[in-house]
Amino acid sequence: MNIDGVSTGIVLDHIKAGKSMQIYELLRLDKINNCVAIIQNADSSKYGKKDIIKIDQLIDLDFDVLGYVDDNITVNIVKDGKLFEKKHLELPETLTDVIKCKNPRCITSIEQEIVHKFKLVDKEKQVYRCVYCDAESK
Ligand SMILES: [Zn+2]
Repeated sequence: MNIDGVSTGIVLDHIKAGKSMQIYELLRLDKINNCVAIIQNADSSKYGKKDIIKIDQLIDLDFDVLGYVDDNITVNIVKDGKLFEKKHLELPETLTDVIKCKNPRCITSIEQEIVHKFKLVDKEKQVYRCVYCDAESK
């Protein structure tokens, strides 16, 4: 693990190579004032290639979003240059306003104010279904 360059903040490690930009967007990291570093295609003894995101700030992370994109990500909370906490992710049971239902007849496609909500129906295959119309997420 590498926490170089982060004295207080968050290091997202073991991101599947190529997924870091999606995470950057979903977590809206462009809204952060402090430094955010994205390292792509770093060597990993465990997974071959991986991405890493370093955030120079302690922020409230949406663990559901992270777990949905890639539940292998390790979240390292760094305080004063030391590893303070290490979190492992799980596939979330429900997703609220993370992904959108693609069914054009779904109520969420018609009514803009309704939150997009999905439920995990198959943990192994990572299948989510819209709670309103039952459409699959992928
Ligand atoms: Zn739907």
